[in-house]
Amino acid sequence: MEIESMVANSALVRAREGGGSKGRSRGWRDMLRFPHISDCAKLAMSIEREYYNLCVKQPIGKKLFELFCRSRPDLQNYVALLEALDDFETQGDEKRRESGNSIIERFFKMQSYQSVAIMQKHEEACSQSLQFCPCGDVFGDCRRELHEYLSGEPFIQYQDSMFFDRFLQWKMLEKQPVTKYNFRQYRLLGKGGFGEVWACQVRSTGKMYACKKLEKTHVKQRKGEEMALNEKQILEDVDSRFVVNLAYAYETKHALCLVLTMMSGGDLRFHIYNIGKPGLDNARVCFYAAEVCCGLIHLHQRLILYRDLKPENILLDDYGHIRISDLGLAVKLQEEGGLVRGRVGTLGYMAPEVIRREHYGISVDWWGLGCLIYEMAAGHPPFRTKGEHPPSSDMEKRILTEEEDYNNFSKLTKEICSLLLDKDPKKRLGCHNSNGKAVQAHPFFHSINFRMMEAGLVEPPFKPDPRQVYCNDVLDIDEFSSVKGVVLNETDNSFYSMFNTGRVTTAWQNEIIEMGCFKELNTFGPGGSRPPDLVW
Ligand code: ADP
Ligand code: MG
Ligand code: MG
Repeated sequence: MEIESMVANSALVRAREGGGSKGRSRGWRDMLRFPHISDCAKLAMSIEREYYNLCVKQPIGKKLFELFCRSRPDLQNYVALLEALDDFETQGDEKRRESGNSIIERFFKMQSYQSVAIMQKHEEACSQSLQFCPCGDVFGDCRRELHEYLSGEPFIQYQDSMFFDRFLQWKMLEKQPVTKYNFRQYRLLGKGGFGEVWACQVRSTGKMYACKKLEKTHVKQRKGEEMALNEKQILEDVDSRFVVNLAYAYETKHALCLVLTMMSGGDLRFHIYNIGKPGLDNARVCFYAAEVCCGLIHLHQRLILYRDLKPENILLDDYGHIRISDLGLAVKLQEEGGLVRGRVGTLGYMAPEVIRREHYGISVDWWGLGCLIYEMAAGHPPFRTKGEHPPSSDMEKRILTEEEDYNNFSKLTKEICSLLLDKDPKKRLGCHNSNGKAVQAHPFFHSINFRMMEAGLVEPPFKPDPRQVYCNDVLDIDEFSSVKGVVLNETDNSFYSMFNTGRVTTAWQNEIIEMGCFKELNTFGPGGSRPPDLVW
């Protein structure tokens, strides 16, 4: 390896290890200094006063509402119960019954000192479902009723408290413009169609991300405006642990930037081909396929077709979990069961109905999953042997007419692949009304507990080495130069301003909490009094 690559890699490894407060800039407190509450007056007027959005969905909003409830003796048991319910959802199956019963003992019984009166009538139904079906939605009704209660008088009181004022201050910080000065840049990670992807770190929090840059001149020359905006809007719409998350969208003089979940473990292509003998062991094939399946279900529930499933678009994180990335070809359907047309994707992974130029729906993604499982198991894609690059007409013919070869496949792997690679989208596994549940129910996944997987509780079978950088040398990734002769004008600027929306609420608030900034900065006056910056 060349010295330049080594230096770039070790800088990145050190930044990744920084973690906690070590990755923050010295001036981080100034970057996150609260504006005086009087500067939040306009926001206070315009912000939509909706309980669920302000107190449940937004992570910082939720924390401040909790702090408010804790400051009120009559609401303390309500928050304690809500926290216990959150905790219950992250318990493994074997702990559900015990954890659920302790919730009932603590909060549902009249004689308990933490008793929440409105819960007493739920005691019997919850005890029953804990007994017979502990992994179902045991406390759903209770949760709804708690929120209904809290969204009344308590929510009104909250809006008059210093906790809500503090929320407004955080929202002001969230709405500040984002520029390249908010980030520190590390090594080049990869190259895409419109530009490069760089590792970066937020100066104020120390959090690492991947910054996907779309060069403005390239976007314009290749009329990629709509595509870029589509990718950004679809990314904003998703929030899944199995899909790359968008945290910031901003512009520089030369580029549009998407700041995404950092995935340091390399892509599945790298793992299938560049480490030992091509292909992956059964445990990894099954685990990655299951996580991709969860990701596809999440996208399809939001009426998003992904259309670009292939190993290089599935990325690993530090722990060995995967996320679906590169939503450039994804499309939002008009309605449930909706169809689109368009020959998009990568030829080797295109479904027969795409090649035949028919209208299609989510069936193409289940075909894609079939290709992916096949390639992970075999060490080469279906319809193509190692290193072979047949002309596209040939490739199309094979996809439309040939049967895949299942040498050395285990029985269940062969079975699920051949069901997903059914050439008839009507007969294909996953393509009926079941919304992907039929795929999850296939015996190939019998060892996977999907409830635990959705909660992030399934241990990955392989953990990337934190000291290794799983991508090509910086020097092997070609430089990206801007195209000459393309002039940017006012129309371009109006498109850029649609793109340049700054921080994405949930991702940014989670970053502030996860990196410890919330805990350090969200302090109040002595004895829980209003501090000077919150005096109107
Ligand atoms: P394009 O849409 O132009 O193909 P991609 O989104 O696929 O661009 O990104 C190009 C390359 O950058 C990927 O193949 C991968 O190597 C790297 N990359 C993209 N996103 C991330 C990420 N979130 N974390 C780490 N590397 C990434
Ligand atoms: Mg790509
Ligand atoms: Mg793309």
